[in-house]
Amino acid sequence: MSDFVQGVPIARTSLEEHEILSVLEPLRSGWLVQGPKVREFEEKWSAFTGAKHSVAVTSCTTGLHLALAALGFGPGDEAIVPAFTWIATANVVEHLGGKVVFCDIDPETFNLDVEQLPSKITGRTRAILPVHLFGLSADMDAINAVAKKHNICVVEDAACGFGARYHGRHVGTLGDAGCFSFHPRKAITTGEGGMVTTNSDVLAEKLRRLRDHGAAMSDLQRHLGARPYLLADHPDAGYNQRMTDLQAALGSAQMDRATEIVTERQRLAQVYDQAFEKLQWLRTPVHIHGYEHGYQSYPCLFQPESVTPASIQRINQMRNDWMDKLQQVGISTRPATHAVHMLRFYRDKYGLKPEDYPQAYAANHCSISLPLFHGMSDEEQNYVIRHIESVSF
Ligand SMILES: *Cc1c(COP(=O)(O)O)cnc(C)c1O
Repeated sequence: MSDFVQGVPIARTSLEEHEILSVLEPLRSGWLVQGPKVREFEEKWSAFTGAKHSVAVTSCTTGLHLALAALGFGPGDEAIVPAFTWIATANVVEHLGGKVVFCDIDPETFNLDVEQLPSKITGRTRAILPVHLFGLSADMDAINAVAKKHNICVVEDAACGFGARYHGRHVGTLGDAGCFSFHPRKAITTGEGGMVTTNSDVLAEKLRRLRDHGAAMSDLQRHLGARPYLLADHPDAGYNQRMTDLQAALGSAQMDRATEIVTERQRLAQVYDQAFEKLQWLRTPVHIHGYEHGYQSYPCLFQPESVTPASIQRINQMRNDWMDKLQQVGISTRPATHAVHMLRFYRDKYGLKPEDYPQAYAANHCSISLPLFHGMSDEEQNYVIRHIESVSF
């Protein structure tokens, strides 16, 4: 009640007291970096997602970078990236000297438009980076079919994908590798942090090496082995993307209520779905048969009139005015995410115009995410609903 007077934030972390205290364990044991807690967190992650291997890293961004590097992606190679996503999906391609080839999105799902995907393939395409945006899986059968036909790899950006399933299978286990984020805006958080999942033994071994300076054996393996005093060999010039045991302790503790966290987010989303069903001007997240939404957020499309190239600017102005009004009564909202081709680096480097990817442009200008987080009270949610119902467009 007291928090609520301050307003309803777009997201709030949910940590129980014993989860907070779990961070003390590695501090007291003295094993702070990639030790027993990282291993425990990885094991729980694999059990929950069904991935054969889980490799903890420092963020989803470093995970995407690591996965592409491990798959041999390098200078001159092209990667297909949806035009509407967090900028990191594209940045990792740049970090490796590759070329970003944007693909527009399906306006219904905000995910990669698989109809347009084949037209983006060239002789230099080496990877597709589908994003399971906001917790809704991309159309992975269609994407994998294109990848297989052209012999290119698929690295899933599953940053928001915790709890998202595609025909029963958890996202992040559907391509060559999947990358998750534990940033505080995501459903499970370790402050910063990420996890790479894969079903390939060979790739997992390479990922483990590359995150740890290219070492053939981790410190934990060495310490548990017969000759802990001998250093490992380094077959690769790797990186340092190791998660700390402090972070892993926090992640591991939250995994004990993984199902509860997903179920609660889905319940909150359902309450919104029902409340807004009658509003023509607000399109709530779609439901697709065989897809289970994880609701990292609750992205809507603001559509007081149909969204067309001619109406986008006008709708954008109305949306921003409305967001401003909501902010004034203490309700935080956000555009769902951004159209990366409109951000200065990509716009300038590739000479792109907003209309080049019209659906990403429309989503950028007309989407709105509403507050949704584990621990949101009925009172808070009703407050949001009441204010949204009280206006009409
Ligand atoms: C949050 C997010 C990222 C970045 O994750 P970090 O862990 O902050 O690096 C990448 N892609 C998408 C789609 C995201 O939502």
